[in-house]
Formats: sequence, C-alpha cells, structure tokens
Amino acid sequence: MESELNRLREEALSALAEITDSTGLEPFRVRYLGRKGGSLTTVMRKLAEVPKEERPRLGALANSVKKEITSLFEKKKQELADARDAGPAVGNLDRSLPGRYLPVGKLHPVTQVMEEICSIFEGLGFAIAEGPDVETDHYNFEALNIPKHHPARDMHDTFYVSDSILLRTHTSPMQARIMENQEPPLRYIAPGKVYRCDSDITHTPMFVQVEGFLVDRQVSFADLKGVLTSFLRRMFSKDLAVRFRPSFFPFTEPSAEVDIGCVICGGKGCRVCKRTGWIEILGSGLIDPEVMKMVGYDPDEYSGFAFGLGVERIAMLKYGIDDIRLYYENDLRFLSQF
Ligand SMILES: [Zn+2]
Repeated sequence: MESELNRLREEALSALAEITDSTGLEPFRVRYLGRKGGSLTTVMRKLAEVPKEERPRLGALANSVKKEITSLFEKKKQELADARDAGPAVGNLDRSLPGRYLPVGKLHPVTQVMEEICSIFEGLGFAIAEGPDVETDHYNFEALNIPKHHPARDMHDTFYVSDSILLRTHTSPMQARIMENQEPPLRYIAPGKVYRCDSDITHTPMFVQVEGFLVDRQVSFADLKGVLTSFLRRMFSKDLAVRFRPSFFPFTEPSAEVDIGCVICGGKGCRVCKRTGWIEILGSGLIDPEVMKMVGYDPDEYSGFAFGLGVERIAMLKYGIDDIRLYYENDLRFLSQF
C-alpha cells in the first residue's frame, strides 16, 4: 500500500503540472480527490485491510499525500484564476475591465400608467375588454344615444373612413358591444387608443382612454361615487380631495364631471389648475335608460354607471408633465426618465 500511495502521488503531481487552463481542473479533482471512485479514496479504503500495527503509519502517510495533492490543486486553481483575471492582454482586449451593459428597454410611461389603472380596477372586480380601433358609426354614436345630427357629435372631431366607418373617438363602443351580448351583472373596463382630429398642448390626434361601466340591479349614484373615489385615491394619494360636478353626456343621465384637488399645488392654486385648486379628471354618470333600452335591458330592472378617463391626462398629473405631445415625440431622453 505504501508503494501504491507513492505511485499515486507521483502520478497526481505530474498530471497537475500538465494542466494549463481551468477546464482541466474538474476532471483532475474527480479522478484523484473525488469522494466516489477517486484514486486516493480507493487506496485509503484499503486501510481497513492492513494489519492493525501498520495502520497508524500508513494512515498518516495517506493523509499527508492527500493534503499535499489537495493543497497543490488549490494553488493551481488560484494561479489559473489569477492568470485569467490579470493575464496578459490579448490584442487590445483588457480582460480586467468590467463588462458593458446593454441599456434595458422600458414600457412607455403612458403604458405604465394604463397598466396601473387597469390593475386598480381589476382589484375592484372589473374585467378588461378590448375592441376594434376602426369602429362603425352605430357603436361609436348611435348605440350610445348620439344619433346623426346630434350636437354632441361636433365635440368629437371624428376621423371618418366612410359614411358609416370611423376611427373610434372613445372606447365607449365596447359598452354597447358587451351589453348586447351579455346579461347583467356586468363590470368592465375598456382601455385602448382613440382618435380625434385635434392637436395642441393638451390634445393629440391619438390618445389612450379607459372607459368603464357597471350594470346590475339597484346601482345608484352612490356606487359610482364610491368606485371612482376609491380608484382616484389609489391612483394619486389616500387623502385626495374629490368632487362631483353636474355635467352633460348624451349616454348618461344624470352626468357628472369628476374633479380632484390639484396634485401639483395641493389646492393652493397654480398654472395647471388655473388658480382654482381643482383639476378635471374624468367624466361619468348613470347609464341613460335610452341606452339600456337599445341593448334590450329593462331600465326598470337594471341600472348602472359609466365613466371615461384620459390616460395621458392622468400620466401628466402623476409625473408633472405640462405638454401632452412630449409623450409622442419619442425622445428617449424624455422617455427613459420613467
Ligand atoms: Zn394647482
């Protein structure tokens, strides 16, 4: 056994000397030092068979051989690692420099805010529905109680594709599409791009809207106030001031504009809130019984509310941006800040 140990030691040391890069380390370790089937382990097992009086001497020898090989192996490993880190440069390559990172892409700020809005409404039990950008005049207007020649059509600055086909001016058509095909109770939000022929610091020809509605038995204005107030407080801050102001929309009755306390000046009055301390944030109301009748619901049995909000507007207030066009100029210096 003694000669076997010495032979193993010689063999291991010369094998170690031949290793020139780190790929040779692991096979060496497995072959000589491995717990299962490594040469040294195999020889050391034979200790049990040698005569009792020989055991201490051979045991000590085996241990010292193992120690020597292990420490030379560790040394070799360290040498190879050092050589890799600080080794001579290959051509112009300095291997000690940290790697370069590729910039990571991000979601557009408007998309981020839209996802946040959707997740708040999902938390309130609303499902998400998406519909076509190119819509029929019927779903965009008629089914929402806006017949031809209704003055409300003038507010929409519509892009017409033909007499009866248009780019949707709001995502409200989904309300009629869903109500036609499903029975209450319904809770939906419809996020998506909408189009209007309009462009200035607060309007772009394409913008993103989230429209939502809820239909059930005995839905009242109190439900509308509760849902919208809790949405706005989750979106902005827990103690946000919210007020409802009478307004008019053809597809809701009664209708209300919703204002929030100015998030820029905290209600003291600034340029953004036009010194009033309030900012108009969304439109809402109880669904007009005429709209209910058009989709075949009995307005005496069911009631509901609907609301619509502009995602860019919320994003502008959230991030303190005063020109909506910045969102669509695709300037990475602007977009990468979010
Ligand atoms: Zn203000």
